[in-house]
Amino acid sequence: MASVELRDLRKEYDRGTIVAVDDLNVEINDGEFVTVVGPSGCGKTTTLRMVAGLERPTSGSVVIGSRDVTDMHAKNRDIAMVFQNYALYPHKTVMENMEFGLRMSTDLSKEERREKVHWAAEMMGIEGLLDDKPDELSGGQKQRVALGRAIVRDPEVFLFDEPLSNLDAKLRTLMRTEVQRLQNELGVTSIYVTHDQEEAMTMGDRILILRDGIKQQVGAPKEVYDNP
Ligand code: ADP
Ligand code: ADP
Repeated sequence: MASVELRDLRKEYDRGTIVAVDDLNVEINDGEFVTVVGPSGCGKTTTLRMVAGLERPTSGSVVIGSRDVTDMHAKNRDIAMVFQNYALYPHKTVMENMEFGLRMSTDLSKEERREKVHWAAEMMGIEGLLDDKPDELSGGQKQRVALGRAIVRDPEVFLFDEPLSNLDAKLRTLMRTEVQRLQNELGVTSIYVTHDQEEAMTMGDRILILRDGIKQQVGAPKEVYDNP
């Protein structure tokens, strides 16, 4: 677990003609679940990708715990990200998909890796799917695998980029509960991007509302709701 601090974080594209994120300042506490909401194009994904190290800020910094990680490569940040399209390797089994991140980022033995995968699979209720390939799975199952692959690495920070948008309404509600259960059990600092205001309201300890790359509001659901 670790706090996440965005300091004057800025991202410009096309020689500054597009300001995707406009000098954003946000402090996220250790173990906090913050949802980021706002209309399409307001800078949610760009912000998340800068925290992950997948996009380099034009200026400003990202601090995780007490470390300034702004110039640190994504693979050296203790972060796991869950995407809308699951981002699973189609030719690998569920077991191999979940193990892969561990192989890259740790020096555990094969047995230790498998043990961790089994623990994560049990957390997500997918032990029965470990030998399957992703295209044999339903959308909900794929997202369980993606969540399992994220928790298996025991990261300090979880980043979610619209993880439930591809699921139907019923499954989305179920998976919200699953994400919240994970959050309660693991207590990991989480940043959760969604365009769904209701999802942001029900899931976030605090909600960050972005518009045109600028922080409109940040606060607990009730504070944000009472002062729209
Ligand atoms: P959101 O996730 O809220 O939909 P994004 O962070 O994807 O918003 O995009 C913010 C703005 O930056 C948008 O205007 C988008 O078109 C622009 N943008 C994002 N990525 C790029 C890029 N690689 N090149 C140019 N413009 C980009
Ligand atoms: P989202 O709305 O979910 O953030 P988008 O479809 O806007 O996703 O963007 C998908 C990808 O395209 C991202 O990697 C983003 O950086 C890139 N992108 C978005 N807008 C532009 C743009 N105007 N020019 C170039 N790349 C862009």
